[in-house]
This record gives sequence, C-alpha cells and structure tokens, in this order.
Amino acid sequence: MNATTRLPFGADDASACRLSVVIPFFNERDVLPICHTRVRAVLDALDMPTEIVYVDDGSGDGSADVLRQCAAWSSRARSVTRIVRLSRNFGKEAAMMAGIEHARGDAVVILDADLQDPPELIPAMMNAWAQGADVVCMQRRRRHGESWMKRASAHVYYRLLQRLSRSPIPVDTGDFRLMSRRAVDALGQLSERCRYMKGLYAWVGLPTVVLQYDRAPRAAGRSRWGYGALLGLAMEGITSFSVAPLRWATGIGAVAALGGAGFGAVIIGKTVMFGSDVAGYPSLIAMVTFLSGVQLITVGLLGEYVGKTYMEAKQRPLYLVRDVLTPNVSAVERAL
Ligand code: UDP
Ligand code: MG
Repeated sequence: MNATTRLPFGADDASACRLSVVIPFFNERDVLPICHTRVRAVLDALDMPTEIVYVDDGSGDGSADVLRQCAAWSSRARSVTRIVRLSRNFGKEAAMMAGIEHARGDAVVILDADLQDPPELIPAMMNAWAQGADVVCMQRRRRHGESWMKRASAHVYYRLLQRLSRSPIPVDTGDFRLMSRRAVDALGQLSERCRYMKGLYAWVGLPTVVLQYDRAPRAAGRSRWGYGALLGLAMEGITSFSVAPLRWATGIGAVAALGGAGFGAVIIGKTVMFGSDVAGYPSLIAMVTFLSGVQLITVGLLGEYVGKTYMEAKQRPLYLVRDVLTPNVSAVERAL
C-alpha cells in the first residue's frame, strides 16, 4: 500500500473507524467547501473515529484541489479525510462503489456532494443502526426545486420498477443511506458491471429501516441528469432486475399473431363467399406498419439484454483509481 493512504488512527486498523461518509463528486467546486464544512460539523459532534471518503469522479474543474485546501485545515485526530481520485469520469454508480470499497467504517453513509441529502440527518441514521438495522434508507418526503415533470416521471417510474422487480425497491429512495459493514460487504460481492445501485441495495435485503426526509434543492451548480440520462438509467434499472419486458414482447407477439390469424380467416371466408376485391389497402398498410413497429421494439429490447450480457462478459473493472489523497494527515503521520 502507498504510504500516503495510511490512516492516522491505529494505522490501517479497520475496527478503529466507526463511521465512513462516502461522497462522490463530479465538477462540484462551488459546493464542496460548504459540503465539507457541514459534514465535518456533524462528524465532530458525534465524537467517535470517523472518516470522509470523497471520490473525485474525474472532475475537470479543480474540485479536488479546492477540497484539499478545505480538508487540510480542518484536521482532527479522530477523523480522516481521504480523496479517492478516479482515472476519469466513470459515472456516479461506479464512483459510489469506489468510495464504498475504500471505506473502512463499521457503518457507511452515502451522501451527494450537492447537499441535497442533509448531512445533519446522520445522527438519526446512526441511531437506527445502533438499534439493529443493517440498512437505513432515506425516503424523500418532498422534492424541492425539481420540476413537476421530473417529480411525476420519478413517481411513475419507481412504482413501475416496484412491480417488475422481484426484490422490492423502496419507493422514492435514492443513494442516500446508511449501510452496516455486513451490508457493505454483501454489496461488494455483487460483481456485475452494469450496476443499478438501487436494485443492488434491494437485492442485498437485510433488516432495513426507512426514515423520511425533505430533499433540499441543490446548494450550487446544476444537476447533470438530463432527461436522456434519466431515461437511460430507467431502462438500466428495469433490464437489470427484470426479464418481464421480454415476456411482454412474447405476449404482444402472441396477441398480434392470433389477431392476424383471425383476420386472415375472415378474409379467406369473405373471398370464398363473396369473391375477391382489392379493397382494404389502408388497413393492410396499417397492419404492416403496426406489426413492424412491434417487431422493431422487440428486437431493440432483446438487444438491451444481449448488450448487457456482452458488457458483463468483458469483465472490466468498474473503475480505476488514479491516487488516494489524505489532505489532513500531517507529514509525520504520513511517514508512519
Ligand atoms: N456525480 C458523480 N459522477 C457523475 C455525475 C454525478 O459522482 O458522473 C455526483 C455529483 O457530483 C453529486 C451526485 O453524484 O454529488 C449527484 O449528482 P446530481 O446532483 O447531478 O444528480 P441528482 O441529484 O440530480 O440526481
Ligand atoms: Mg443532486
């Protein structure tokens, strides 16, 4: 292990850290100083060995340097800040996994850097954990600062996913959650490349407590989730955890085939009884267009699953780490 990655408390002793807060970020230089101050205030009040694991998901705006400066002066013996820098932008799901795998705490909390998930709720989450929960899920009561369109689509999507997936995914929960070491280790065992985190959390199961909170608007900067990206994520969620769409395709195919056969029988009957005429051209075109549409959708759907199999078969790592910075570990401690 690189000397700079060592921890000051009982170097490399996993049991020495009670709580890890994992914060993935991508180009968040405006919000990181506020984020760091708020998280530190919460952790300091807890008065136990803690760490903050930031994951720089390939930011190009100097976010890591800003953070380094903030973290350097907020040094405290029982709390460490580490910045895991990835080699490029891998996306939030991979960045979170990097953070989780670098976390050493008995409990791990995942937090967005934009402060939409208030760090002040961490003590309440710790309480639920102390009472035996392995997972403390934070459920959004209200979504501030999000358009009604986004709220409505999220509402419909979560409920659809709930119906499709065999492992129930709690409605309106995101990545903001606490996991016990047991849950974290279980998550680490799921080695798939196409990671739909919400589904993976649900697959793990374990005793789960759901707490409600009001999701704040972004503190600064803007969300990188446009509708295209959200649609991709939605598709990923459904195809990762359910093959129901393939069954629907079979169902639709069967109905269309039966309908076609019935229609054919009617036409043959009519021709036999009343002779042939050439009418029906528009209905023919309508049928052909409809059925080719259904076929194309079905092929596309199959492609989704085949593509996923291909991505999994390559077995590439989820992310690559460029380096790990420990800005608040003094030079002496670093040399230990
Ligand atoms: N994020 C990341 N990698 C990315 C995109 C986003 O680590 O490629 C981080 C981002 O910096 C933030 C969190 O993921 O801390 C949530 O992102 P965002 O606010 O854009 O998503 P939303 O809150 O709109 O779901
Ligand atoms: Mg956000």
